[in-house]
Amino acid sequence: MSISGDDDAARRAGAILSIDLGAIAANWRGLRDAGRATGRQVDCAAVLKADAYGTGAAVVGARLAAEGCRHFFVAHIDEGIALRRVLPEPPIYVLNGLLPGTEPDFVEHRLIPVLNHLAQLNTWRAAAQRFSRTLDAVVHFDTGLHRLGFSAEDAQVLINERGRLRGLRLALIMSHLVASEDTSNPVNGEQLSRFRTFVRAMPGAPTSLANSSGIFLGPDFHFDLLRPGAALYGINPLPGQPNPMLGVVTLHAHILQTRRIDAFQTVGYGGAWRSARPSRIATIALGYADGYFRNLVNRTHMHLAGHTVPVIGRISMDLVTIDVTDVPEADCQAGAMVEVLGPHLTPDDLADHARTNAYEIMTALGRRYHRAYVDGYAGGPADDAGEAA
Ligand SMILES: *Cc1c(COP(=O)(O)O)cnc(C)c1O
Repeated sequence: MSISGDDDAARRAGAILSIDLGAIAANWRGLRDAGRATGRQVDCAAVLKADAYGTGAAVVGARLAAEGCRHFFVAHIDEGIALRRVLPEPPIYVLNGLLPGTEPDFVEHRLIPVLNHLAQLNTWRAAAQRFSRTLDAVVHFDTGLHRLGFSAEDAQVLINERGRLRGLRLALIMSHLVASEDTSNPVNGEQLSRFRTFVRAMPGAPTSLANSSGIFLGPDFHFDLLRPGAALYGINPLPGQPNPMLGVVTLHAHILQTRRIDAFQTVGYGGAWRSARPSRIATIALGYADGYFRNLVNRTHMHLAGHTVPVIGRISMDLVTIDVTDVPEADCQAGAMVEVLGPHLTPDDLADHARTNAYEIMTALGRRYHRAYVDGYAGGPADDAGEAA
């Protein structure tokens, strides 16, 4: 399956990030089906910002399009332009909206800006006039996140003066949830009722509210279009509960060298770790420059030949040291691969160790890792994949 250039790159790479496209596709189908469970025509988009949370937007976008996904979200204009090269047809929405002077870029690449305030709407309407064509637009209403989106005042102006949309086709009305992963948080219901008010005031346009966790808040939150990102990539949308999604990434890194040290020797910068016994230390080919955060020291582990091996000593830019004293010598020679992420330690687990969330772990996944795509999910692509594409 892989071409020889790929094999060369894999041989040279310090670490190999394996991305299971079949699992991403299965996760997408699962979320789409959750939206359809009540028999309504709910569509499921894919959020591909930050290079599809580190998994590769072009490859993932093409795979999900083949699966039947017809709506794609990115954050930046350039992400949209890059995605357009592999997805000639479907709508691509740019969440961060227009930047001054970028209207021609949106028009040229048929990107749809998410309009976050009245001035952006005016700019886009002027562009429609200038280019003498009807342009698609998304209007984002702020229902409480207070980050992006039409304020209540801006929204009232638009509701009172629908003529402000002249020359534009309202492709979607959307909002974004504050704490969707916290199912008992009353802010979810408050945002739902505010969003419904906007929807009632702007009848006719398709509507979208739910990110990954929002989908699990139930059908009231589904509207016309689901907007999952994290859950597609295997991040648990239900913190504290079993993960309903399939794991997507595994990361294996090379052992570069294994050495014996005596008791009471230090390892790494600052001499921050000291052996309590004669030990064997393996040095691994990744570091904080690859998104393996410095604060993981003394808090996490890797997996090798059925053993859990602690990460010890300071994390360097390109290197990490692990204590392999309890692993049979034959299993921890230079050249062996250590499991850094995978079934034994998921991105959610590593995020707990690093006191962050799996979104940050995923989006920080190193650009130096060799990315190897597999399509290993037993279910395979959906039967109607070809037709839907
Ligand atoms: C990132 C983002 C999403 C996807 O959120 P997940 O929690 O990753 O599913 C959806 N909508 C907006 C506006 C976003 O910024």
